[in-house]
Amino acid sequence: YGEFNQKIDYVFKVVLIGDSAVGKSQLLARFSRNEFSVDSKATIGVEFQTRTLTIDQKTIKAQIWDTAGQERYRAVTSAYYRGAVGAMLVYDITKRQSFDHMARWLDELRTHADRNIVIMLIGNKSDLGSLRAVSIDDAKEFAQRENLFFMETSALEATNVESAFETALSEIYRIVS
Ligand code: GDP
Ligand code: MG
Repeated sequence: YGEFNQKIDYVFKVVLIGDSAVGKSQLLARFSRNEFSVDSKATIGVEFQTRTLTIDQKTIKAQIWDTAGQERYRAVTSAYYRGAVGAMLVYDITKRQSFDHMARWLDELRTHADRNIVIMLIGNKSDLGSLRAVSIDDAKEFAQRENLFFMETSALEATNVESAFETALSEIYRIVS
């Protein structure tokens, strides 16, 4: 996680989108600081967090933006999407509605963002499997149809969080390099 005295080859802006309470801020906390806070409110107001990582021997600074409570439909402004090369489209596997809203969020994203943006569909809270309301098949089918990457994650248990961001960032790198 150290970025002292490092030469940065690329800065990639990635935006987190999806309904309120799906775990966007906790995914960000997990990826940027390897933290999870039970009281999520602590992170409100933070615009973005960065983490520097190496892909293909290049130093990449990932600048991950969080909505900070603007999740109502159409409330996220175009400035949020501006310059984004990646997007993490997050739903909660225990909340069917948060998955059903993915189409809307995608629509918003495609209206405002660059057409080459890399999009990762994320089903978060995979640790709550007994409360599952969205099947992996449904999510995979949606992802395939819309040409998105897909992964289930748990910010709580740190499952696949690293992998989801790294997959997206590697794909972004592949496109821009
Ligand atoms: P946001 O509104 O999308 O930013 O959601 P938050 O990150 O604030 O998380 C909303 C709630 O879900 C909080 O109570 C978190 O503790 C909880 N949460 C977030 N990620 C996970 C997860 O992976 N597993 C479980 N069980 N709870 C989670
Ligand atoms: Mg949040």
